Amino acid sequence: MLEAYRQHVAEREAEGIPPLPMDAEQTAKLVELIKNPPAGEADFVLDLFVNRVPPGVDEASYVKASFLADVAAEKTKVEMISPVKATFLLGTMLGGYNVLPLIELLDSANTDVAEEAVKALSKTLLVYDAYHDVVEKSKTNDYAMQVLKSWAEAEWFLSKPKMPEQITVSVFKVEGETNTDDLSPATAAWSRPDIPLHAKEMLKSRMDDVDGTIASLEAKGHPVAYVGDVVGTGSSRKSAMNSVMWFFGNDIPYVPNKRQGGVVLGGKIAPIFFNTAEDSGSLPIECDVEKLNTGDVITIHPYEGKITNEAGETVSTFELAPDTMPDEVRAGGRVPLIIGRGLTDKSREALGLEPSDVFIRPTDKSQAAHGYTLAQKMVGKACGIEGVRPGMYCEPRMTTVGSQDTTGAMTRDEMKELACLGFSADLVMQSFCHTAAYPKPVDIKLQHSLPDFITSRGGVALRPGDGVIHSWLNRLLLPDTVGTGGDSHTRFPIGISFPAGSGLVAFGATLGVMPLNMPESVLVRFKGEMQPGITLRDLVNAIPYQAIQDGHLTVEKKGKKNIFNGRVLEIEGLEHLKAEQAFELSDASAERSANGCVVKLGEEPIIEYLKSNMALIDWMVENGYQDARTLLRRRDEMQAWIDNPKLLESDPDADYAAVIEIDLNTIKEPIVACPNDPDDVKLMSEVQNTKIDEVFIGSCMTNIGHYRAAGKVLEQMGNVPTRLWIAPPTKMDERQLIEEGYYSIYGKVGARTEMPGCSLCMGNQARVADGATVFSTSTRNFPNRLGNGANVYLGSAELAAVCSVLGRIPTVQEYMDAVAMLDTMTGEVYRYLQFDEMADYKVESPKNLSDIGVAVAS
Ligand code: SF4
Repeated sequence: MLEAYRQHVAEREAEGIPPLPMDAEQTAKLVELIKNPPAGEADFVLDLFVNRVPPGVDEASYVKASFLADVAAEKTKVEMISPVKATFLLGTMLGGYNVLPLIELLDSANTDVAEEAVKALSKTLLVYDAYHDVVEKSKTNDYAMQVLKSWAEAEWFLSKPKMPEQITVSVFKVEGETNTDDLSPATAAWSRPDIPLHAKEMLKSRMDDVDGTIASLEAKGHPVAYVGDVVGTGSSRKSAMNSVMWFFGNDIPYVPNKRQGGVVLGGKIAPIFFNTAEDSGSLPIECDVEKLNTGDVITIHPYEGKITNEAGETVSTFELAPDTMPDEVRAGGRVPLIIGRGLTDKSREALGLEPSDVFIRPTDKSQAAHGYTLAQKMVGKACGIEGVRPGMYCEPRMTTVGSQDTTGAMTRDEMKELACLGFSADLVMQSFCHTAAYPKPVDIKLQHSLPDFITSRGGVALRPGDGVIHSWLNRLLLPDTVGTGGDSHTRFPIGISFPAGSGLVAFGATLGVMPLNMPESVLVRFKGEMQPGITLRDLVNAIPYQAIQDGHLTVEKKGKKNIFNGRVLEIEGLEHLKAEQAFELSDASAERSANGCVVKLGEEPIIEYLKSNMALIDWMVENGYQDARTLLRRRDEMQAWIDNPKLLESDPDADYAAVIEIDLNTIKEPIVACPNDPDDVKLMSEVQNTKIDEVFIGSCMTNIGHYRAAGKVLEQMGNVPTRLWIAPPTKMDERQLIEEGYYSIYGKVGARTEMPGCSLCMGNQARVADGATVFSTSTRNFPNRLGNGANVYLGSAELAAVCSVLGRIPTVQEYMDAVAMLDTMTGEVYRYLQFDEMADYKVESPKNLSDIGVAVAS
């Protein structure tokens, strides 16, 4: 085993990265080697066991904790590890499988062991329900009382150094915008759980020799800070932050292949990226970075809010936000701070003490007397209060949490680190949409192992080939509730979601709440009548178009203005939309860098949607989807809402950071996003006749209506000279389109149909040709996302179909002529999947919770 491991170390060393952490099998072998160490290998074996096994609830940590528990309890005797040392080592495992053994060791007759267990538990935060065991034991066991008092005194926090007054760093600057694909390319998504390996991809498409540049900066003797004009756009990828921290953070004792801390400075830092940085113990600061250049040595004065150069001159100023940042940095991140602060509060309460004053407590600074917006009311409801003001810290209840496959492995690892053995969020769902069509061996492995991990904790696992996460997750939602998801397009059409990095998603799923600093809102109000030939996708693009006219948005990255950045986009004036249509609007709020989005809808379309979704749930349970209890509970909650439907509404005097009015009467031609920026929107006539090489109709931005509309256009116009890709969002859409004969049209005109899922949108599977000019219905057109050097226009499926036949963007007249017939067949074309009315999804005797052994109150 050691020989094989050394070979692995050498292979990884050749790539400039550390070996992988120990798995369960290797850890079990290490245990045997510790019992009988080969000559001269004792130190090496012990070092591997102590430092290279992941903590939490990993299978390897289970093996490690069980062995240490036996040694500490003197059930097993080994030369190398004394009972006290075994207890100490249990204390380095952060939570999970080490907690119960440590609590048992408080009863040890060996007082040195019991005292060591006190020290270990005092610094352990991930104890969850085991907290009650300590409280109970403290009534009769003095060591347990010492643990409780230590938690109450926040020794876990006070024993760590405060955030420094001054932080001197060397600057590593990336000019312009760095988006999620620059930091964590989709093409290397498979390597994301292997942090050091994946980090090698960081900024590869942007510059040469990233490692060499950072190494030369490190040689100056200071830590290196990541600096950028616009940082982390579009990112829900914890992997992006993991890579940044791999280069700019610090090792974590006893945790292999992971780092934390570091400094990120950005003119604008995308909200999810900012939160992920906070959660990971990094110090993210939004400030003017104009005067900072690679190689500069600067000193950050976080409390004073300024940055000085080597001459002592102030080169930038900032306001440290949120207020709790010094505590977050001290605690090693926002997540440990929240969990630890909660543990301290509970312990003080149990001891009859006042709340601790050692923490900076989040405060509601707003003196506002005006009403609440719809989003503020939804979040308020999830916190058990009427509304939440912008800037206020809160922890809304997470009703629905989504996880997709390319971030799923990292989310799973974060859940393990949080010692999660069951979800507290009502419904957690895992999809396999990003990797199903063209899986790598590593994806197949995940597709086999992740469903069990999720369902054994009470979550719902989809299957490869089912389709795009959002098209499914949206169908499991409850009105006016709050959720999150490890995909930046988790943007609920009913209720509200705050998409997050995988660390925070794991937190939301595990603890059932999520930390949130309530953002301000921007209201977009539509009025007037939709004009002929105009689609919802044109309204999606009308939002940035109008914002540019109103001076709220600029396309230029330097000094970029974006009113939506980090705020909630609230949309009114389209109450008649179906939920499927509303999602097209909310989904695209990701491209605005908005933190969340709500669409005001009428009661009728919501009831219709829920009825359809209840039928789908029955069909899922009938077809063996797990966890059946979670699914049936959700179905029953939907019925309960239908029985007493009540929708929240914004107050008339609610306050918004801006109100953008869009008059539908003035939109008379399609609006498209131009290469390669979703904000760079133009009227179609401004780019007419641009040659198009490839066309993609797919992604979560589409629903069945788009495929019928495109089918009708293709049927009318004939063969396509371009390469046309068609990938419906779910297998239900695909099946229906086949039954209605649309696949025969696609086949006849020469289109290439793909497995339902993300397909080209993700860019990690099939790709367009290098340098191709593409017209796509997908969400975003960041450089290189769909193909290397591709120039991508984004717009409606109807326009995409016309482009695919003409091989160019049409003139307004050509477009109007091509889509005119759709106006006469609206009812047939734009008809959504109403599962409760479809024979294929009818379940004769739907199951109830009581049928599967769940006790239900009468
Ligand atoms: S279709 Fe595209 S935007 Fe939507 S979930 Fe998949 S990769 Fe993300």
